[in-house]
Amino acid sequence: MTASDSQPLIGVVALQGAAAEHVAAFRRAGARSVEIRVSADLDGVDAVALPGGESTTMSHLLGTSGLFEPLAERLAGGMPAFGTCAGMILLASEVLDGRPDQRCFGAIDISVRRNAFGRQVASFEAPLDTEGFDEPFEAVFIRAPWVERTGSSVEVLATVSPRSTLQDASATCAHDPDGLEQHHPVPVLCRSGSILVSSFHPELTADDRIHQIFLDMVGASVAR
Ligand code: GLN
Repeated sequence: MTASDSQPLIGVVALQGAAAEHVAAFRRAGARSVEIRVSADLDGVDAVALPGGESTTMSHLLGTSGLFEPLAERLAGGMPAFGTCAGMILLASEVLDGRPDQRCFGAIDISVRRNAFGRQVASFEAPLDTEGFDEPFEAVFIRAPWVERTGSSVEVLATVSPRSTLQDASATCAHDPDGLEQHHPVPVLCRSGSILVSSFHPELTADDRIHQIFLDMVGASVAR
């Protein structure tokens, strides 16, 4: 498929973090995609992606760039959004272990815990059985958050068992030093309406199936 004007335009918030990788993934998947830095860049955009990076820094830069309010307005108006890792934290309705001054958009009714897999496990890969996929998705997690609560509108598309990600048996989760909660699978890919969020980084792999899920959501929303 080649991108043409009939394809939706996906804006990737590019204040910090892995924005270029999202633009490339959307283009590979057949969409048009541009980076967004100021509020005028939102004009003409059908949907947005918020990349991984550092949610506290991104929250700060969204404020200083003047992008936070116009983006919040578009999200409240139903614009589809895809948040990965720090981007998931920004789209959530509640952030656990966040900084007191960090802001989020409340676009999806989930509580996420930052850096939830523990400091010892800075990054790992896990094959995810994902709703709708015949083959698992090889997911890359980097100082990732997990979802601790989902509202009734939220669909869980993939989970991970934190215990299976701990290479070092003595490693413990940052907020759960006794390890009592580690065996519960936690949601890492969720959808609600036209919002999609992942704890991991699909833009860092060559597998564009998760970007494709989002483009299908955008297509359905544009057709309405
Ligand atoms: N730990 C980061 C945060 O809290 C997220 C990490 C990432 O996006 N890779 O924002």
